[in-house]
Amino acid sequence: MAHLCCCGCGHEIVTPLSPTDWRFTYNGAAITVHPSIGNWSHQCRSHYIIRNGRVVWAGDWTDEQVAAGRARDRAAKAVQFGNTPTPLEVKGVDSEPPKTRGAIARLWRWMTRR
Ligand SMILES: [Zn+2]
Repeated sequence: MAHLCCCGCGHEIVTPLSPTDWRFTYNGAAITVHPSIGNWSHQCRSHYIIRNGRVVWAGDWTDEQVAAGRARDRAAKAVQFGNTPTPLEVKGVDSEPPKTRGAIARLWRWMTRR
């Protein structure tokens, strides 16, 4: 689904219809689009809801809010489509030495010596 940005900047805004993207309803007279449309990648950064054929302006989001929204979106897609999200790199976690004594512990100390 595509429309011209409601702020008038002229950008074409594409809102894919899917269980994890947008859905729209048409009651015979007016459309409602859900959820809100945030044009964060455009200069205008306009954010609005289309409800019963009217544009309801919503506030600008901070970059953190946009990032959080995108993360939620990826997680929802992973659940919906059975993809596992890209694993996060684990940093700064020191491995615990094995509790086993003897040869394995010696091998561990040998492998982890600096
Ligand atoms: Zn715009």
